[in-house]
Amino acid sequence: MTTPLTCRNYIDGQWLTATAGATLDSCNPANKREVIATFPRSAAADVEAAVVAARQAYQSWRLVPAPARAEYIFKVGEVLSKYKEELAQLICREMGKPLAEARGDVQEGIDCAFYSAAEGRRLFGQTTPSEMPNKFAMTVRMPIGVCALITPWNFPVAIPCWKAMPALVCGNTVILKPAEDTPACATKLVEIFVEAGLPPGVINLVHGVGEEVGKALVSHPDIDLVSFTGSSETGAEVGSICGRTHKRVCLEMGGKNAQIVMEDADLELALDGAVWGAFGTAGQRCTATSRLILHRDIKEKFTTMLKERTSKLRLGAGSDPNTEIGPIINERQLQRVSKYLDIAYAEGAKILIGGEIATEGELQQGYFFQPTILDKVTPQMRVAQEEIFGPVVVLIEVNSFEEAIAILNTTKYGLSSSIYTRDINRAFTAMRDIEAGITYINGPTIGAEVHLPFGGVKQTGNGHREAGTTALDIFTEWKTVYVDFSGSLQRAQIDNRE
Ligand code: NAP
Repeated sequence: MTTPLTCRNYIDGQWLTATAGATLDSCNPANKREVIATFPRSAAADVEAAVVAARQAYQSWRLVPAPARAEYIFKVGEVLSKYKEELAQLICREMGKPLAEARGDVQEGIDCAFYSAAEGRRLFGQTTPSEMPNKFAMTVRMPIGVCALITPWNFPVAIPCWKAMPALVCGNTVILKPAEDTPACATKLVEIFVEAGLPPGVINLVHGVGEEVGKALVSHPDIDLVSFTGSSETGAEVGSICGRTHKRVCLEMGGKNAQIVMEDADLELALDGAVWGAFGTAGQRCTATSRLILHRDIKEKFTTMLKERTSKLRLGAGSDPNTEIGPIINERQLQRVSKYLDIAYAEGAKILIGGEIATEGELQQGYFFQPTILDKVTPQMRVAQEEIFGPVVVLIEVNSFEEAIAILNTTKYGLSSSIYTRDINRAFTAMRDIEAGITYINGPTIGAEVHLPFGGVKQTGNGHREAGTTALDIFTEWKTVYVDFSGSLQRAQIDNRE
């Protein structure tokens, strides 16, 4: 065990304790006795200070040319690369994912830095002919102002980067409120932004409890935009406050993602995808494969293959190089997963493998759940409809391609999806008919890349897409500019008509 880190808020270029002095701890989910960090339990006064600093900094940051703002973010990418290993180790200890995945989490942040930095020299608007003579028409992207970024624990580096980097390149200032479970990761990340030389007030960090700090940010009249990633329940609350206070709000929420395996699929390939999609990050990804929709002709064979592979998966601390599945983030989430097994049992599902909290040997020191496969699941069961967010996958048998697509679409969510088939016609039909923000053909439901839009339909999102150039639409307003150089009043739709 190592000495706990002391995390502070970062407001107006200074590292500060909470005004009330209260603190909370984060712990290692693979060893709950190990405290990773102590962090401020901030209150409304801390939020107020951060909003004042971000508002003040916005006045000058928005006037820094976008290519120059982007150079700061490029530098963040370089500093992040320097600390990649250190940060990955910290993610392992504080969030629990295996080291290879933790490195991927940081790499996503690095990719996002370089991609966002390149946008500083684009941020393209349009020019278009005016309908009047001697008149010029164009559109330009404008920053929005002060952005509150509220993030979950499952990608403690990548998700804050996805939000902060494009927001800053676009000329906004930001206040990050990270998840309570991963304050040390957020602190290290903000230290990296600071080392890259961002001016005071441009990036601020306020730790604390969602119901307190998160809510205070969302409700604050001087916040212009809220970018939230988390559960659909919290997102609904955030969205309703933003609706009432006329804030721009981007919501990235839950999923109940499915992988279809057709009878013509390469079953080994589909198996690799299913295991990685369902059990990677212990199922704690918004894009995790939570349902496997299997054609009846391959169901039995595929189920046998899946069960065998799953039985060999090794649970353990993320820092152990042999670990394939890390812990669940905390006690509350562990109990939530466990509760879904009771629900599954009551609904008539059959537990093929797993189904319990793992307590063998050192696992009892942390929050581990056995990788679990549930069979005999029907599409309307709660375990087929609700997000479990753990290493649990349900099997649903179908008789046809059409039935598979219909069942895939039968949830309130629409984030990621996948189909394994060798039939090109089915692949294209699936691309058209699946109701989801992301569809993979012959790949698992997880594996987003930063230069493509990311987000979902239905109750997963509210119409925005993070990453890719679509992130710019979240963090900018369009302004339409007309320049009349005719020297006289020209009335569109009137003076140029008989
Ligand atoms: P969560 O409980 O909704 O929390 C997300 C963030 O919101 C945390 O920082 C939390 O703070 C804060 N928060 C909680 N209550 C709040 C309130 N009333 N007002 C403002 N902020 C509040 O979600 P989570 O358990 O951390 O994350 C898991 C969920 O995130 C899953 O549903 C998953 O699908 C979703 N997710 C979605 C995506 C996507 O892109 N679609 C990506 C990753 C995760 P505290 O930590 O202090 O509670």
